[in-house]
Amino acid sequence: MATKFLLTFAICRLIVTVGLTLDPTELLRLELDGHLSLDPADVGSASRDFGGMQTAHPMAVLHPASPQDVARLVKSAYESAHGFGVSARGHGHSINGQAMTAGNGLVIQMSGSRGKPAPPRVSEKSMYVDVWGGELWIDVLRSTLEYGLAPKSWTDYLYLSVGGTLSNAGISGQAFNHGPQISNVYELDVVTGKGEVLTCSKEQNSELYDAVLGGLGQFGIITRARIALERAPRRVRWIRVLYSNFTAFTQDQEYLISLHGQPQKFDYVEGFVIVDEGLINNWRSSFFSPRNPVKISSLNADGGVLYCLEITKNYQESNADTIDQEVEALLKKLNFIPASVFTTDLPYVDFLDRVHKAELKLRAKNLWDVPHPWLNLFVPKSRIADFDKGVFKGILGNNTSGPILIYPMNKNKWDDKSSVVTPNEDVFYLVALLRSALDNGDETQGLEYLSNQNRRILQFCDEAGINVKQYLPHYTTQQEWIRHFGEKWTLFSRRKMEFDPRHILATGQRIFAPLLNPRGASF
Ligand code: FAD
Repeated sequence: MATKFLLTFAICRLIVTVGLTLDPTELLRLELDGHLSLDPADVGSASRDFGGMQTAHPMAVLHPASPQDVARLVKSAYESAHGFGVSARGHGHSINGQAMTAGNGLVIQMSGSRGKPAPPRVSEKSMYVDVWGGELWIDVLRSTLEYGLAPKSWTDYLYLSVGGTLSNAGISGQAFNHGPQISNVYELDVVTGKGEVLTCSKEQNSELYDAVLGGLGQFGIITRARIALERAPRRVRWIRVLYSNFTAFTQDQEYLISLHGQPQKFDYVEGFVIVDEGLINNWRSSFFSPRNPVKISSLNADGGVLYCLEITKNYQESNADTIDQEVEALLKKLNFIPASVFTTDLPYVDFLDRVHKAELKLRAKNLWDVPHPWLNLFVPKSRIADFDKGVFKGILGNNTSGPILIYPMNKNKWDDKSSVVTPNEDVFYLVALLRSALDNGDETQGLEYLSNQNRRILQFCDEAGINVKQYLPHYTTQQEWIRHFGEKWTLFSRRKMEFDPRHILATGQRIFAPLLNPRGASF
């Protein structure tokens, strides 16, 4: 009773102070298992994200205790006379406010410690796990490992939510072989923008299933995902080799991903670009031994740039005695700088959770909660050399302000029916410029400089006719979105009309303007 009174009071105060149009009784009528919070700490954290460049304060934050809570809130937004936006928020690791909603909107905090609607349920027999949409991948891993199983396709960092990565694609060095995470999901429970709860898969409600995967949260909120599992390897041989020649580097990467599906292959293929002078210094590189510093200048880098191929081979204790030979046989086919092989060997979990260690180090130095003007691009294979010349050896200069990942993927591992868009070539590269902006007096490390550089990179691609697609896309006008989706736009907007006709979901993506009615007439 007291909670309701406080909630009413707070909402009324908001109406007076910021002119909200939402009738508070619409929210108060909701019977929730979880908790609707106006706590400034909750509202504050839902108004920020990892990008650190945008803020948008929601009216309240729902901590759901059941999928029905999600459905009740969305249904109430859909049926409300005024309408209000509802954004699911996973772990808030977006860059540009994609999980936010402003003003009248509410955020549903899907990930977090305030009670999980359902713990992961593993089926050993059918090799899948059912998980709550807000579950973090690290917790999915922990629960499946109890059965000696693990998901097949990963992101580099595991403190991301299942719903958040499936709304994008979810990629890492396993994608060449298994496809992105969206290619490794059997079934979903989704709350559509009308508040309906639907189970969907390739066989059942397939239009919704295809729409939601890579759908940027536009068609529904994922409350459950059924994820494909494999037997978990015990250990990983992790290798890095260097190249000074870009063509040799990409040829080797493309050769390695052509081995997908074969037993004799590496299990993970990534790579990164090193343009900084001096020591290789990279927040993901707990790998390089400080006793083994590599000077770029000593390696005859092409245009001042070096390329590092990063590969792994998984193994069980039972084949530990043959792992050296298997790795050696694969390495023999590659054309890296002979003296540049760096190897380490570690448990599978430690490999998968590698970026978290770097996070802890950055947090200790107060370098984690800084603005992150990241730019992630899919670049067609036919133009990756032009991208190298124009960006790595051109626009970037010798200061990247963070790691630059580059690795190819096979398009035939992506389901073209999903909402995600990729370049129209059999092979395309992810180029991820993962920069941190610092306020340390050096203009070239500042937010404005790095954001300008991102704009220059996009402009360069445009002018050079390199048909890149943004991954984790961010645009501010619908025209840009239409261009991004290209041939898929008609389907994307038709699906929006079908599953979220009032445009209330994930308004932070800024694809569709919400169809709200400020005067309170029914729509
Ligand atoms: P949020 O940022 O909270 O949400 C992202 C979008 O999904 C929003 O539009 C939101 O409304 C929507 N959404 C959230 N939950 C749901 C749900 N249950 N149902 C429907 N829609 C939902 N990505 C990769 O692919 N590979 C990587 O290796 C990788 N590494 C990363 C490393 C770091 C350090 C960071 C910060 C990000 C990385 N990402 C990577 C990007 C990441 O996949 C995206 O940020 C993604 O959005 C997941 O973050 P999140 O769970 O916090 O989702």
